[in-house]
Amino acid sequence: MVSALAVAETVTDPELPMITLADLGVLREVSEKDGHVVVSITPTYTGCPAMDTMRDDLLHALSRAGYGDVEVRMVLSPAWSTDWITEAGRQKLSDAGIAPPGAAPPGAAPRGPVRLTLTPPVRQVRCPRCGSADTESLSDFGPTACKALRRCRACQEPFEHVKEI
Ligand SMILES: [Zn+2]
Repeated sequence: MVSALAVAETVTDPELPMITLADLGVLREVSEKDGHVVVSITPTYTGCPAMDTMRDDLLHALSRAGYGDVEVRMVLSPAWSTDWITEAGRQKLSDAGIAPPGAAPPGAAPRGPVRLTLTPPVRQVRCPRCGSADTESLSDFGPTACKALRRCRACQEPFEHVKEI
């Protein structure tokens, strides 16, 4: 029998089917005791309707693998952020033509005196096709709540971008 963790790790994100919940950093923990499986996940974007689908997908995948007694728990703290997306996950997004969220800006966790800024640090979004950093926002609301639509000024191609939170 495949371990419950291995099964849970194969479940993909309903809105970004090219990456798994593990890649996304949503899958926090899978524990298994006396046939009872507890899967802990952290919701991504507030109100993201995909959470119900994620839970159902996990239940179905585990049920198919022979786990009948499964509980999916929502872990709200610490809050998920796009920084939790793994390097492998970022690569898969990029390969699929979706710009991954920017990496945390240098100095995001400063040592020493904390500089206060009035605006959030701007993260550079690179075109997933040509790599140009010269991109503009078309709409903050892409096909789903989690994605924004941008266009590359260098190659003129529109692309989706997973928004940083
Ligand atoms: Zn481009």
